[in-house]
Amino acid sequence: MHAMSSPALDLLHSVFGYASFRGQQQAIVHAVAEGGDALVLMPTGGGKSLCYQIPALLRPGTAIVVSPLIALMQDQVDALREAGVAAAYLNSSLPPEDQREVERRLLAGGLKLLYVAPERLLTPRFLGLLERIDVALFAIDEAHCVSQWGHDFRPEYRELTVLQERFAQIPRIALTATADPRTRAEIVDRLGLGEARQFVSSFDRPNIRYRVTLKHNPRTQLMQFLDGHRGEAGIVYALSRKKVDETAAWLAEAGIEALPYHAGLDARVRAANQQRFLREDGVVMVATVAFGMGIDKPDVRFVAHLDLPRSMEGYYQETGRAGRDGLPAEALMLYGLSDVVTMSQMIAQSDSADERKRIERQKLEGLLAFAEATRCRRELLLGAFGEDYRGPCGHCDNCIEPPKTWDATVPAQKALSAVYRSGQRFGAGHVIDILRGIEGERMRQLGHERLTTFGIGADMDEKGWRSVFRQLLAAGLLEADAEGYGTLRLTTASRAVLTGGQQVLLREDARPVRSARRRHDSQLVTGASLGIEAYEQPLWDALRALRTRLAKQQGVPPYVVFHDATLLAMLRAMPANEDELADVSGVGEAKLKRYGRDFLAVINATEPVPDDAS
Ligand code: ADP
Ligand code: ZN
Repeated sequence: MHAMSSPALDLLHSVFGYASFRGQQQAIVHAVAEGGDALVLMPTGGGKSLCYQIPALLRPGTAIVVSPLIALMQDQVDALREAGVAAAYLNSSLPPEDQREVERRLLAGGLKLLYVAPERLLTPRFLGLLERIDVALFAIDEAHCVSQWGHDFRPEYRELTVLQERFAQIPRIALTATADPRTRAEIVDRLGLGEARQFVSSFDRPNIRYRVTLKHNPRTQLMQFLDGHRGEAGIVYALSRKKVDETAAWLAEAGIEALPYHAGLDARVRAANQQRFLREDGVVMVATVAFGMGIDKPDVRFVAHLDLPRSMEGYYQETGRAGRDGLPAEALMLYGLSDVVTMSQMIAQSDSADERKRIERQKLEGLLAFAEATRCRRELLLGAFGEDYRGPCGHCDNCIEPPKTWDATVPAQKALSAVYRSGQRFGAGHVIDILRGIEGERMRQLGHERLTTFGIGADMDEKGWRSVFRQLLAAGLLEADAEGYGTLRLTTASRAVLTGGQQVLLREDARPVRSARRRHDSQLVTGASLGIEAYEQPLWDALRALRTRLAKQQGVPPYVVFHDATLLAMLRAMPANEDELADVSGVGEAKLKRYGRDFLAVINATEPVPDDAS
């Protein structure tokens, strides 16, 4: 028996098909349903939508949801309609006659939720409409758009103060997945939420496994990673458009459903690729950072970075697009010496003001420290947002296989003095040749064979030295030039090492798995990362195929019909009838009625049997 029953919980069961609230959802729902204001900080995938959707259903009138992203609005509305909720959106993508129809329904009291773009909300006409209806609440989604510090600044968000001025009695709930305290303060200030209750969740994404690996043969490494994610949707980030195009083409040739996405593509191609990513199962998007903002596809199973992201925030946001549905997801970052040099140069070369450059430099250093870390990745990642998370998490590469460190003080001194003695005018390659005492024409011409540092590092191979240089750069003990030649010079921090005071501990680079051959295609199981066993494969595929078919009929993405988590729960529960199916998490009343028979038919037709014949 359920210990407690409440109207909110009843709606959670009947409309959304979920058994219980998560984290702070219940407290937030109650606060808003009772007419209070709230500020909600919750990571992506935390379940923010329900925090205003359920109060919207509990209170009389229409909830107005301010959302900056058109694509997202439509998804949310589709999902609500599937769940049997009267919802609509108003934005510029809608033809005028449809807009009038939505307004008519709004005035007639026929809508429980209406999503609007901020610029629409602020029009005198729309504000006038609002004065003629019952407003249940205002939800301000992506509330960080009010902040000038963030990357998503929307000037219209600043004008939302009109809401508390003109509709003082109506509860407001602002939501964001941006954790940083400065942004939070700005939201409170700008949206007049000084009196609002604040609900701050941990920003940990426990279902994401983080891995940072040295780049040695990126294509092979990527392919091995993708082998563990056959048939799954994911994003591969690369820095340049050219690399995006090349990687996508190469993957497609290797038989992977990969599509490119970057700002240089024709707008139509870009939109079509995005649409396929959203509407089909298992498309891999190869993209620059231009892709992902406002994509709330729940079943992205992995995010791979072929190049360094720009900052920890960027990394968190980008990897955060994986696993919104709470199922296992994986983040992989490949990184090497040349990335460090490139990033360092990009900052130096940018035409930003010095102050801005300093900030960028700091951000990069944070990211490099993360990449080179020997501690739990989650500790560092959350620490970057001021959260005091205590590892080990047991679910990142460093926790699973703790890296070894070694005392590199002497090699570091040799490296720094070789940079210094050769005049701080050369790149890592040449300085390493000096250290290793590699003779040659150029060496002789430059007179570098006569340097006292020539050959003092012959005891270590090139790979070893590259590792040292990379880590010295990452630690800010060396920096790359602004001019773009990749030349290295000392920093103010180098002195402490050179004069002998400071110890340098470096990470022992993991050896690349050399001859790890690719698995045969026949061994690649779709859904492997969700724990689908080979014997379950036929039913898993059948459930997904049915979902795709139904989604196409409705003109919605597959996840709007059912999430992977729900299909997975069906697969495990093997419901025999509608009652049992209704108990599956994610199956609400409306969906049960609409899809129940089709899914039961598939489940009953394909009974998976674990075959333990051998
Ligand atoms: P956010 O907006 O915070 O990124 P969403 O509101 O999209 O997150 O929710 C993320 C996922 O979690 C969705 O698939 C949603 O259906 C699911 N979800 C949210 N709350 C619950 C709950 N209480 N029980 C089960 N699943 C939930
Ligand atoms: Zn960890």
